[in-house]
Amino acid sequence: MSEVLVLVDHVDGAVRKPTYELLAIAKRLGTPSAVFIGGAAQAAGAAEAVAKFGAEKVYVVDDTEIKGYLVAPKAEVLQQIAAAASPAAILITSSAEGKEIAGRLAVKLESGLITDAVDVQAGPVTTQSVFAGNFTVQAKVTQGTPIITVKPNAAAPEETAGAGAVENFAATISDAAKKAQIVASQPRESSGRPELTEAAIVVSGGRGTGGNFDPIDNLADSLGAAVGASRAAVDSGWKPHTFQIGQTGKTVSPQLYIAAGISGAIQHRAGMQTSKTIVAINKDEEAPIFELVDFGVVGDLHSVLPAATEQITAR
Ligand code: FAD
Repeated sequence: MSEVLVLVDHVDGAVRKPTYELLAIAKRLGTPSAVFIGGAAQAAGAAEAVAKFGAEKVYVVDDTEIKGYLVAPKAEVLQQIAAAASPAAILITSSAEGKEIAGRLAVKLESGLITDAVDVQAGPVTTQSVFAGNFTVQAKVTQGTPIITVKPNAAAPEETAGAGAVENFAATISDAAKKAQIVASQPRESSGRPELTEAAIVVSGGRGTGGNFDPIDNLADSLGAAVGASRAAVDSGWKPHTFQIGQTGKTVSPQLYIAAGISGAIQHRAGMQTSKTIVAINKDEEAPIFELVDFGVVGDLHSVLPAATEQITAR
Protein backbone atom coordinates (compact mmCIF):
# COMPACT_ATOMS: atom_id res chain seq x y z
CA MET A 1 0.00 0.00 0.00
CA SER A 2 1.26 3.50 -0.78
CA GLU A 3 2.32 5.90 1.89
CA VAL A 4 0.00 8.71 2.93
CA LEU A 5 1.93 11.68 4.29
CA VAL A 6 0.62 13.53 7.34
CA LEU A 7 2.28 16.83 8.25
CA VAL A 8 2.70 16.84 12.03
CA ASP A 9 1.14 19.90 13.67
CA HIS A 10 3.02 20.54 16.90
CA VAL A 11 4.04 23.19 19.40
CA ASP A 12 7.68 22.75 20.43
CA GLY A 13 7.45 19.03 19.79
CA ALA A 14 4.09 18.53 21.55
CA VAL A 15 1.94 16.93 18.87
CA ARG A 16 -1.52 18.47 18.54
CA LYS A 17 -4.68 16.36 18.43
CA PRO A 18 -5.60 17.11 14.78
CA THR A 19 -2.45 15.22 13.72
CA TYR A 20 -3.77 12.06 15.36
CA GLU A 21 -7.06 12.57 13.53
CA LEU A 22 -5.17 12.86 10.22
CA LEU A 23 -3.31 9.62 10.99
CA ALA A 24 -6.67 7.85 11.47
CA ILE A 25 -7.78 9.15 8.07
CA ALA A 26 -4.43 8.23 6.49
CA LYS A 27 -4.99 4.65 7.59
CA ARG A 28 -8.14 4.50 5.46
CA LEU A 29 -6.17 5.60 2.41
CA GLY A 30 -2.88 3.70 2.70
CA THR A 31 0.11 3.44 5.02
CA PRO A 32 0.36 6.43 7.38
CA SER A 33 3.70 8.27 7.38
CA ALA A 34 4.22 11.35 9.53
CA VAL A 35 6.41 14.30 8.56
CA PHE A 36 7.90 16.03 11.60
CA ILE A 37 9.62 19.35 10.97
CA GLY A 38 11.11 20.51 14.25
CA GLY A 39 14.01 20.59 16.66
CA ALA A 40 16.35 17.60 16.87
CA ALA A 41 15.75 17.34 20.63
CA GLN A 42 11.98 17.12 20.11
CA ALA A 43 11.99 14.56 17.30
CA ALA A 44 12.21 11.34 19.34
CA GLY A 45 9.26 12.29 21.57
CA ALA A 46 7.15 13.38 18.63
CA ALA A 47 7.98 10.23 16.67
CA GLU A 48 6.98 8.09 19.64
CA ALA A 49 3.72 10.02 19.98
CA VAL A 50 2.68 9.63 16.34
CA ALA A 51 3.72 5.96 16.30
CA LYS A 52 1.12 5.34 19.04
CA PHE A 53 -1.51 6.61 16.61
CA GLY A 54 -0.48 4.45 13.67
CA ALA A 55 2.46 6.18 11.94
CA GLU A 56 4.49 3.42 10.30
CA LYS A 57 7.24 5.81 9.26
CA VAL A 58 8.28 9.21 10.58
CA TYR A 59 10.25 11.55 8.36
CA VAL A 60 12.22 13.82 10.66
CA VAL A 61 13.39 17.12 9.22
CA ASP A 62 15.64 19.26 11.39
CA ASP A 63 14.24 22.79 11.40
CA THR A 64 17.44 24.69 12.31
CA GLU A 65 17.46 26.28 8.87
CA ILE A 66 13.68 26.61 8.69
CA LYS A 67 12.27 27.84 11.98
CA GLY A 68 13.04 31.52 11.49
CA TYR A 69 10.91 31.63 8.37
CA LEU A 70 7.24 31.45 7.55
CA VAL A 71 5.59 28.62 5.65
CA ALA A 72 7.47 28.49 2.33
CA PRO A 73 10.31 26.20 3.55
CA LYS A 74 7.79 23.68 4.88
CA ALA A 75 6.18 23.44 1.44
CA GLU A 76 9.63 22.74 -0.03
CA VAL A 77 10.25 20.01 2.54
CA LEU A 78 6.99 18.30 1.67
CA GLN A 79 7.70 18.67 -2.04
CA GLN A 80 11.03 16.88 -1.61
CA ILE A 81 9.60 14.09 0.54
CA ALA A 82 6.74 13.65 -1.93
CA ALA A 83 9.27 13.34 -4.78
CA ALA A 84 11.10 10.61 -2.84
CA ALA A 85 8.07 8.73 -1.49
CA SER A 86 5.42 9.12 -4.25
CA PRO A 87 2.64 9.15 -1.64
CA ALA A 88 -1.00 8.31 -2.40
CA ALA A 89 -2.07 11.56 -0.69
CA ILE A 90 -0.79 14.33 1.56
CA LEU A 91 -2.92 15.36 4.54
CA ILE A 92 -2.50 18.67 6.37
CA THR A 93 -4.55 20.25 9.16
CA SER A 94 -6.94 23.00 8.00
CA SER A 95 -5.30 25.80 9.95
CA ALA A 96 -4.32 29.12 8.40
CA GLU A 97 -0.73 27.90 8.20
CA GLY A 98 -1.72 24.43 7.01
CA LYS A 99 -3.79 25.83 4.17
CA GLU A 100 -1.00 28.11 3.04
CA ILE A 101 1.50 25.25 3.03
CA ALA A 102 -0.99 23.10 1.10
CA GLY A 103 -1.59 25.81 -1.50
CA ARG A 104 2.11 26.36 -2.10
CA LEU A 105 2.73 22.61 -2.24
CA ALA A 106 -0.07 22.08 -4.78
CA VAL A 107 1.54 24.63 -7.10
CA LYS A 108 4.95 22.99 -6.73
CA LEU A 109 3.62 19.47 -7.37
CA GLU A 110 1.08 20.62 -10.01
CA SER A 111 -1.46 18.71 -7.97
CA GLY A 112 -5.08 19.23 -7.17
CA LEU A 113 -5.89 20.61 -3.74
CA ILE A 114 -9.01 20.23 -1.60
CA THR A 115 -9.32 22.38 1.52
CA ASP A 116 -11.47 22.17 4.62
CA ALA A 117 -12.60 18.57 4.21
CA VAL A 118 -14.90 17.38 6.99
CA ASP A 119 -14.48 13.75 5.96
CA VAL A 120 -12.14 11.75 3.74
CA GLN A 121 -12.82 8.22 2.60
CA ALA A 122 -10.97 5.77 0.31
CA GLY A 123 -10.37 7.17 -3.14
CA PRO A 124 -9.59 9.63 -1.60
CA VAL A 125 -13.06 11.14 -1.79
CA THR A 126 -13.53 14.17 0.43
CA THR A 127 -16.64 15.74 1.90
CA GLN A 128 -16.87 19.52 2.25
CA SER A 129 -19.62 21.70 3.66
CA VAL A 130 -20.02 24.77 1.40
CA PHE A 131 -22.18 27.87 0.81
CA ALA A 132 -22.75 28.58 4.48
CA GLY A 133 -23.42 24.91 5.08
CA ASN A 134 -26.26 24.76 2.54
CA PHE A 135 -24.54 22.11 0.43
CA THR A 136 -22.40 19.09 1.08
CA VAL A 137 -19.94 18.35 -1.72
CA GLN A 138 -18.10 15.13 -2.44
CA ALA A 139 -14.93 15.75 -4.41
CA LYS A 140 -11.73 14.10 -5.53
CA VAL A 141 -8.47 15.32 -6.97
CA THR A 142 -8.01 14.41 -10.63
CA GLN A 143 -4.41 15.56 -11.17
CA GLY A 144 -1.22 14.71 -9.34
CA THR A 145 -0.88 13.72 -5.69
CA PRO A 146 -4.09 14.61 -3.82
CA ILE A 147 -3.34 17.31 -1.26
CA ILE A 148 -6.11 17.62 1.29
CA THR A 149 -6.51 19.92 4.28
CA VAL A 150 -8.84 18.45 6.88
CA LYS A 151 -10.75 20.31 9.56
CA PRO A 152 -10.08 19.39 13.18
CA ASN A 153 -12.53 16.81 14.57
CA ALA A 154 -13.22 15.30 11.14
CA ALA A 155 -12.20 11.90 12.54
CA ALA A 156 -11.63 10.33 15.93
CA PRO A 157 -7.98 9.62 16.76
CA GLU A 158 -7.26 5.89 16.83
CA GLU A 159 -4.70 4.53 19.26
CA THR A 160 -3.14 1.83 17.15
CA ALA A 161 0.56 1.07 17.27
CA GLY A 162 2.57 1.79 14.14
CA ALA A 163 6.24 0.95 13.60
CA GLY A 164 7.24 4.63 13.85
CA ALA A 165 10.45 3.98 11.91
CA VAL A 166 12.39 7.23 11.92
CA GLU A 167 13.98 8.40 8.68
CA ASN A 168 16.07 11.53 8.98
CA PHE A 169 15.41 13.52 5.85
CA ALA A 170 17.90 16.13 4.70
CA ALA A 171 15.86 18.76 2.89
CA THR A 172 17.39 21.54 0.82
CA ILE A 173 15.79 24.93 1.36
CA SER A 174 16.13 27.43 -1.48
CA ASP A 175 16.82 31.14 -0.96
CA ALA A 176 13.44 31.82 -2.60
CA ALA A 177 11.73 30.13 0.36
CA LYS A 178 13.51 32.38 2.86
CA LYS A 179 11.95 35.66 1.89
CA ALA A 180 9.55 36.04 4.81
CA GLN A 181 11.19 35.95 8.20
CA ILE A 182 9.62 35.78 11.66
CA VAL A 183 10.71 38.84 13.64
CA ALA A 184 8.85 38.09 16.88
CA SER A 185 6.36 35.56 18.17
CA GLN A 186 4.44 35.46 21.41
CA PRO A 187 2.39 32.57 22.71
CA ARG A 188 -1.26 33.48 23.12
CA GLU A 189 -2.50 33.84 26.66
CA SER A 190 -3.99 30.51 27.59
CA SER A 191 -7.57 30.39 28.89
CA GLY A 192 -6.95 26.88 30.20
CA ARG A 193 -9.67 25.66 27.85
CA PRO A 194 -9.12 23.72 24.62
CA GLU A 195 -8.72 25.61 21.35
CA LEU A 196 -12.20 26.30 19.94
CA THR A 197 -11.71 24.71 16.52
CA GLU A 198 -10.08 21.59 17.99
CA ALA A 199 -12.25 21.01 21.05
CA ALA A 200 -14.21 17.77 21.29
CA ILE A 201 -16.99 19.64 23.12
CA VAL A 202 -18.09 23.25 22.55
CA VAL A 203 -20.61 25.13 24.68
CA SER A 204 -21.90 28.29 22.97
CA GLY A 205 -24.01 31.16 24.17
CA GLY A 206 -26.10 33.69 22.30
CA ARG A 207 -28.27 36.71 22.89
CA GLY A 208 -30.37 34.57 25.23
CA THR A 209 -27.63 34.74 27.83
CA GLY A 210 -28.47 38.41 28.26
CA GLY A 211 -24.75 39.00 28.67
CA ASN A 212 -24.31 36.63 31.60
CA PHE A 213 -21.97 33.93 30.28
CA ASP A 214 -21.34 32.35 33.70
CA PRO A 215 -23.69 29.40 33.05
CA ILE A 216 -21.95 28.78 29.69
CA ASP A 217 -18.43 29.10 31.14
CA ASN A 218 -19.25 26.89 34.12
CA LEU A 219 -20.81 24.13 32.03
CA ALA A 220 -17.85 24.29 29.64
CA ASP A 221 -15.39 23.92 32.50
CA SER A 222 -17.27 20.99 33.99
CA LEU A 223 -17.04 19.23 30.61
CA GLY A 224 -13.51 20.30 29.68
CA ALA A 225 -15.06 22.12 26.73
CA ALA A 226 -14.29 25.25 24.73
CA VAL A 227 -16.62 28.26 24.82
CA GLY A 228 -18.18 29.75 21.69
CA ALA A 229 -20.63 32.56 20.97
CA SER A 230 -23.11 33.72 18.36
CA ARG A 231 -22.52 36.95 16.51
CA ALA A 232 -25.28 38.64 18.51
CA ALA A 233 -23.30 37.90 21.69
CA VAL A 234 -20.04 39.07 20.12
CA ASP A 235 -21.59 42.23 18.67
CA SER A 236 -22.94 42.99 22.13
CA GLY A 237 -19.38 42.89 23.46
CA TRP A 238 -19.99 39.90 25.72
CA LYS A 239 -17.22 37.83 24.15
CA PRO A 240 -14.39 38.75 21.77
CA HIS A 241 -14.67 37.96 18.06
CA THR A 242 -12.29 35.00 18.47
CA PHE A 243 -15.23 33.22 20.14
CA GLN A 244 -17.65 33.75 17.23
CA ILE A 245 -18.94 30.68 15.45
CA GLY A 246 -20.54 30.93 12.05
CA GLN A 247 -20.22 32.25 8.54
CA THR A 248 -18.13 35.23 9.61
CA GLY A 249 -16.55 33.46 12.57
CA LYS A 250 -14.97 30.08 13.16
CA THR A 251 -16.17 26.72 11.94
CA VAL A 252 -16.29 23.97 14.53
CA SER A 253 -17.08 20.31 14.16
CA PRO A 254 -16.89 18.87 17.67
CA GLN A 255 -18.25 15.57 18.93
CA LEU A 256 -20.76 17.58 20.99
CA TYR A 257 -22.03 21.13 20.39
CA ILE A 258 -24.25 22.73 23.00
CA ALA A 259 -26.07 25.90 21.89
CA ALA A 260 -27.71 27.91 24.66
CA GLY A 261 -29.87 30.96 23.95
CA ILE A 262 -29.02 30.79 20.25
CA SER A 263 -31.88 30.93 17.72
CA GLY A 264 -30.12 28.95 14.97
CA ALA A 265 -29.81 31.54 12.17
CA ILE A 266 -28.39 30.14 8.93
CA GLN A 267 -25.18 32.14 9.41
CA HIS A 268 -24.64 30.53 12.80
CA ARG A 269 -25.44 27.05 11.51
CA ALA A 270 -22.77 27.49 8.83
CA GLY A 271 -20.15 27.27 11.54
CA MET A 272 -21.46 24.35 13.60
CA GLN A 273 -23.84 22.12 11.70
CA THR A 274 -21.23 19.45 10.97
CA SER A 275 -20.95 18.83 14.73
CA LYS A 276 -21.53 15.14 15.47
CA THR A 277 -24.14 15.66 18.22
CA ILE A 278 -26.02 18.92 18.69
CA VAL A 279 -27.88 19.90 21.84
CA ALA A 280 -29.83 23.15 22.21
CA ILE A 281 -31.34 24.92 25.16
CA ASN A 282 -33.84 27.60 24.18
CA LYS A 283 -36.93 28.95 25.87
CA ASP A 284 -38.78 29.23 22.53
CA GLU A 285 -39.90 25.82 21.31
CA GLU A 286 -40.29 27.27 17.80
CA ALA A 287 -36.62 28.36 17.62
CA PRO A 288 -35.06 27.19 14.30
CA ILE A 289 -32.11 25.62 16.16
CA PHE A 290 -34.43 22.79 17.19
CA GLU A 291 -34.65 21.73 13.50
CA LEU A 292 -31.09 20.42 13.59
CA VAL A 293 -30.63 19.18 17.13
CA ASP A 294 -30.20 15.62 18.33
CA PHE A 295 -31.45 16.66 21.75
CA GLY A 296 -33.35 19.80 22.65
CA VAL A 297 -34.37 21.34 25.96
CA VAL A 298 -37.13 23.96 26.01
CA GLY A 299 -36.27 26.05 29.01
CA ASP A 300 -34.41 28.97 30.51
CA LEU A 301 -30.66 28.50 30.14
CA HIS A 302 -30.08 30.28 33.43
CA SER A 303 -31.71 27.37 35.27
CA VAL A 304 -31.07 24.45 32.86
CA LEU A 305 -27.29 24.95 32.51
CA PRO A 306 -26.50 25.33 36.25
CA ALA A 307 -28.57 22.19 36.95
CA ALA A 308 -26.65 20.28 34.26
CA THR A 309 -23.31 21.59 35.58
CA GLU A 310 -24.20 20.48 39.10
CA GLN A 311 -25.04 16.96 37.90
CA ILE A 312 -21.86 16.70 35.85
CA THR A 313 -19.64 18.07 38.61
CA ALA A 314 -21.18 15.63 41.11
CA ARG A 315 -20.05 12.64 38.98
P1 FAD B 1 -31.14 35.69 18.51
O1 FAD B 1 -31.43 35.34 17.10
O2 FAD B 1 -31.70 36.95 19.04
O3 FAD B 1 -31.65 34.46 19.39
C1 FAD B 1 -31.62 34.44 20.77
C2 FAD B 1 -32.32 33.17 21.20
O4 FAD B 1 -32.21 33.04 22.58
C3 FAD B 1 -33.80 33.13 20.85
O5 FAD B 1 -34.08 31.95 20.13
C4 FAD B 1 -34.50 33.12 22.22
O6 FAD B 1 -35.66 32.34 22.24
C5 FAD B 1 -33.43 32.51 23.08
N1 FAD B 1 -33.50 32.90 24.50
C6 FAD B 1 -33.69 34.14 25.03
N2 FAD B 1 -33.60 34.11 26.36
C7 FAD B 1 -33.33 32.81 26.69
C8 FAD B 1 -33.13 32.14 27.92
N3 FAD B 1 -33.15 32.81 29.09
N4 FAD B 1 -32.90 30.82 27.91
C9 FAD B 1 -32.88 30.13 26.74
N5 FAD B 1 -33.07 30.72 25.53
C10 FAD B 1 -33.27 32.04 25.52
N6 FAD B 1 -24.38 34.91 13.40
C11 FAD B 1 -23.53 34.07 14.00
O7 FAD B 1 -23.84 33.51 15.07
N7 FAD B 1 -22.31 33.82 13.46
C12 FAD B 1 -21.88 34.38 12.31
O8 FAD B 1 -20.75 34.13 11.89
C13 FAD B 1 -22.76 35.28 11.65
N8 FAD B 1 -22.41 35.85 10.48
C14 FAD B 1 -23.31 36.65 9.82
C15 FAD B 1 -22.98 37.16 8.57
C16 FAD B 1 -23.90 37.94 7.89
C17 FAD B 1 -23.51 38.47 6.55
C18 FAD B 1 -25.14 38.23 8.48
C19 FAD B 1 -26.14 39.08 7.74
C20 FAD B 1 -25.45 37.74 9.71
C21 FAD B 1 -24.55 36.95 10.42
N9 FAD B 1 -24.85 36.42 11.67
C22 FAD B 1 -24.00 35.54 12.24
C23 FAD B 1 -26.03 36.87 12.43
C24 FAD B 1 -27.19 35.92 12.40
O9 FAD B 1 -28.01 36.21 11.28
C25 FAD B 1 -28.04 36.07 13.68
O10 FAD B 1 -28.44 37.40 13.80
C26 FAD B 1 -27.31 35.66 14.96
O11 FAD B 1 -26.76 34.36 14.79
C27 FAD B 1 -28.31 35.65 16.11
O12 FAD B 1 -27.64 35.33 17.30
P2 FAD B 1 -28.46 34.66 18.50
O13 FAD B 1 -29.01 33.36 18.04
O14 FAD B 1 -27.57 34.67 19.68
O15 FAD B 1 -29.59 35.74 18.78
